[in-house]
Amino acid sequence: MRLSQMLFVTLREDPAEAEIPSHKLLLRAGYMRRIASGVYAYLPLLWRVLNKVSAIVREEMNATGAQECLLPQLQPADLWRDSGRWDTYTKAEGIMFAFIDRREQEVALGPTHEEVITAIARDMIRSYRQLPTHLYQIQTKFRDEIRPRFGLMRGREFIMKDGYSFHADEDSLKATYRDMYQAYSNMLRRCGLEFRAVEADSGAIGGSGSTEFMVLAEAGEDEVLYTDDGKYAANVEKAVSLPPDAVPATFEKYEKLDTPNTPTIESLAKFLDCSPTQIVKNVLYQVTYDNEQAVLVLVSIRGDQDVNEVKLQNELARQAAAYGGSTVISLEVPSETEQKNWAAKPLPLGYIAPDLDDDYIKPQASVAPKFLRLADQTVVELKNFVTGSNQSGYHVVGANWGDQFTLPQSVVDLRKAAAGDRAVHAPSQTLQTARGIEIGHIFQLGTKYSTAMGATYASESGEEKPLFMGCYGVGVSRLAQAAVEQSYDQDGIIWPTAIAPYHTIVVMPNINDADQVVAGEKLYADLNAAGVETLLDDRKERAGVKFKDADLIGIPYRIVTGRSLKDGKVEVVKRATHESQEIGVDHVVKTIQQWIEADREY
Ligand code: ATP
Ligand code: MG
Repeated sequence: MRLSQMLFVTLREDPAEAEIPSHKLLLRAGYMRRIASGVYAYLPLLWRVLNKVSAIVREEMNATGAQECLLPQLQPADLWRDSGRWDTYTKAEGIMFAFIDRREQEVALGPTHEEVITAIARDMIRSYRQLPTHLYQIQTKFRDEIRPRFGLMRGREFIMKDGYSFHADEDSLKATYRDMYQAYSNMLRRCGLEFRAVEADSGAIGGSGSTEFMVLAEAGEDEVLYTDDGKYAANVEKAVSLPPDAVPATFEKYEKLDTPNTPTIESLAKFLDCSPTQIVKNVLYQVTYDNEQAVLVLVSIRGDQDVNEVKLQNELARQAAAYGGSTVISLEVPSETEQKNWAAKPLPLGYIAPDLDDDYIKPQASVAPKFLRLADQTVVELKNFVTGSNQSGYHVVGANWGDQFTLPQSVVDLRKAAAGDRAVHAPSQTLQTARGIEIGHIFQLGTKYSTAMGATYASESGEEKPLFMGCYGVGVSRLAQAAVEQSYDQDGIIWPTAIAPYHTIVVMPNINDADQVVAGEKLYADLNAAGVETLLDDRKERAGVKFKDADLIGIPYRIVTGRSLKDGKVEVVKRATHESQEIGVDHVVKTIQQWIEADREY
């Protein structure tokens, strides 16, 4: 491709809308344009990158025996009602673009395809002989994200590879899950990314396992905790660890103390001159279930620890049936306005005890009349602890479960694991932290969708059984940007060769110099003929502009038809290192081919 013929516009300044390096660089280098919040036009250079990523994804998927297909983006509401997700996706999370068509039918733009594929499986899979089977597609997805940001990282329209497998039993599902683990690792390695596979939260679906593939980068929205022995890595949402040991109690007698201005653990520990590990902290949450039932939740946890709200939400989802609900619609620390809606009297915030009286809740149908009391494991063994007194400005010390307070019936792991904690599998290992960009997520769904939607098969013994199902997603457009986030310098993008839009760029510094043009044109033709994807910068621009642009767009190898032409040589520059060397014109094609081959990851 000739740059002179391309719609190629680079920007010298960072666009104001962009916050992270990869987003700035892709805009500046003319790879994409923002059309609306979270909606981008993929311009020709980016489209080449996306196609290369897709090609690698396809090869790895096909190698596992999965079949490519293309499912409709327009999805009828009925399918989502069958699975029970219509309300969650349109109202609760509100992530689905839904509308009414001219026939007054409700439809939505697909954010994901479990419903569509399960409907197909319900119709087409009859017998165990058809199993296992795995379909995937590469397609634009639509999600009305609350906070679209960072360009392609969190778009409202983005490209995803999504695959769905169906099985007769769990063992078969696990086998495919293992194949996907390998395929995903291969994809990311071949794209030139540094990544980590981590244990992930499977959310309210419960189920067996889920793994996220995280590209490591400072700008990542996720936190990963891992150990140096390589035996443990998990998303912080899911991570477990051993808490630090509690400092033995210093209060022997139970008494209520005047502790003015100590609403926080820090201020209280300082005032009482005790360790936060001796304090039972009681945190108030408000959960709303899908039947619009609100429940006030009181979580007792050790003072030095924080509540992991994902673990809390999972526990609340498990308890949903007790409140007539099935899923959690929202979970939050109730704001002052919300407190006014249900509190019968002002709450002793900052001084709450585990036995806060239920009469703080105003009787009304939409709010459960009693607190749901949960204890994190860290408080169970505490003796002579410090906690609130339900009276502002006062705490109690020397308290014990079974004496002054009743330990809540539900004792669960609700604490947030943190860097520096000891690992469960080997207490000598401490958890380390890293930021990650979630690129892929593989999931053992089990029979959730097949049961909800009646997708069954006849087993060998003739019994109708629900299909076991797995799902596997890769953010193709997010991956492309993550590659930039992992690889750039002050001059611009440094694409891994495998997904660079072109392998080389031939720069003719002065197109008024006939020798340069002849040499440049010949190299351009020879390289392309040899399968080296080549750009030719034949624009009427100053040499400095051309070099800057070549660096900015990040093509791995630059060939300059400059001064050394008179000796039959050209300058060849490696983008990643700026390393430059002069090579005889006749040897350029071979050399570049060798370099490309050496860059390839298998
Ligand atoms: P996230 O937690 O980042 O919102 P998710 O759990 O919603 O992701 P999945 O539904 O598992 O993601 O989708 C599969 C993959 O699609 C993700 O791993 C990610 O790479 C990509 N993806 C998800 N949402 C977006 C988005 N809004 N923009 C770009 N890529 C996305
Ligand atoms: Mg999401």
